[in-house]
Amino acid sequence: MNITKNFTLAELTRTSTGITNTPNRQETTALIKLCGKVLQPARDLYGAAIYVNSGFRSFAVNRAVGGARNSQHMRGEAADITVHSKEKNKILFELIRDNLSFDQLINEGDYSWVHVSYRSEEENRKQVLNL
Ligand SMILES: [Zn+2]
Repeated sequence: MNITKNFTLAELTRTSTGITNTPNRQETTALIKLCGKVLQPARDLYGAAIYVNSGFRSFAVNRAVGGARNSQHMRGEAADITVHSKEKNKILFELIRDNLSFDQLINEGDYSWVHVSYRSEEENRKQVLNL
């Protein structure tokens, strides 16, 4: 099922852990918002495919992959994305930072991937971090 033109629910809930990873209604709503407000606009601005390494994570999946205890991935509010090179990930990161509304934008491991989250216009902290 496509959430937006270029993003599917399947890729936003994929896990290699083998653990059940099905978002509930509220988590699905958050994923739809994340795609509509950040991922699809970023994809349109970037002009090429963006790959989702990790989107929604159930509590069990998040624990299995060593995610933060209060990770926004568990609420369907966050995605780890990549365009498969550090150089290009930096371009993607700057494009989101300079053009879109987000809650948290993180450069992970010198642009190994980009973590981005979205809550709502009212709740977004617009926090930019380099980890
Ligand atoms: Zn993340």
